[in-house]
Amino acid sequence: MKIKEIVSALERFAPLPLQDGFDNAGLQIGLTEAEATGALLCLDVTEPVIDEAIAHGCNLIISHHPLIFKGYKSITGKDYVERCILKAIRNDIVIYSAHTNLDNAAGGVNFKIAEKIGLKNVQILEPKENSLLKLVTFVPSAQADTVRKALFNAGCGTIGNYDSCSYNTKGEGTFRAGEGTNPFCGSIGELHHEEEVRIETIVPAFRKAEATRALLAAHPYEEPAFDLYPLQNTWTQVGSGVVGELDTCESELEFLKRIKKTFEVGCLKHNKLSGREIKKVALCGGAGSFLLPQAIRCGADVFITGEIKYHDYFGHEEEILMAEIGHYESEQYTKEIFYSIIREVCPNLVLQQSKVNTNPIKYL
Ligand SMILES: [Zn+2]
Repeated sequence: MKIKEIVSALERFAPLPLQDGFDNAGLQIGLTEAEATGALLCLDVTEPVIDEAIAHGCNLIISHHPLIFKGYKSITGKDYVERCILKAIRNDIVIYSAHTNLDNAAGGVNFKIAEKIGLKNVQILEPKENSLLKLVTFVPSAQADTVRKALFNAGCGTIGNYDSCSYNTKGEGTFRAGEGTNPFCGSIGELHHEEEVRIETIVPAFRKAEATRALLAAHPYEEPAFDLYPLQNTWTQVGSGVVGELDTCESELEFLKRIKKTFEVGCLKHNKLSGREIKKVALCGGAGSFLLPQAIRCGADVFITGEIKYHDYFGHEEEILMAEIGHYESEQYTKEIFYSIIREVCPNLVLQQSKVNTNPIKYL
């Protein structure tokens, strides 16, 4: 299988437009036309990680954190990132990163953390806003099915776990074809009435171009009428952090000790214990403390994230238990997401989950 096909599978799961503005997810280094010889899956790209890929004969490294975050005027090996760039290029290794697009995707990083904790009814904590469009078009009744299918294939009509969602009303369209036209029905210069279906469906804004292309290709008219409306609906399947519930309540200490063990946390920091029962758990892998207000608002008993600043700990002990488990620790199981996405499209590829612990933070 070609590397680009693996990249496509990753981007179907975690589309790049879902990444945050500051991010640099996507292809970092290399050409993707080559056949994949194997893929090494990791959280961070470091020189030992590239050595590991070489040792396993992998010409593809898939990381969660992007290797490259800034523009370069020279690459001379003066820091570890530049040395990684040089080493990867010298060894014909492609580096690809799925970062905040994977954080924000349904089934992404935070869903994996929730799975490790054993949460049920997992939902996005802060769903994305202003990212959906309503697409409306008018199609002759006989062609409505073809156009609907084309739209669904182009990413329209998904609501939660339902696909092919649309609303269809019959009506009558009118038009008069001018000189130089080639009307699908009716005659040039004559007012025409056609029985049409108004098809309404929903589409993520980032798929607008794809949906429009599919509509124009499938619609029989020379000049199809269609409308795109911005929606104020939240996109509940996509966004930051998650919240879910434990099957049975645990005491604060019981819960924190279990988290410490599950994520092999060197030092678990938390705010004051107040004797509450833990049932509802909000979390965000990595540096997720920006979601603390949302965690409190949704009534979570505990908020778990990778990093919390000292001052952010103050004043919340009555509202919520806060637990900081380390950035690396919180996101380490992201490799398993890469593994299952690639395994599904490429059952025979050598897939290696990195054994290098890239956590730069050590504990005494
Ligand atoms: Zn991270």
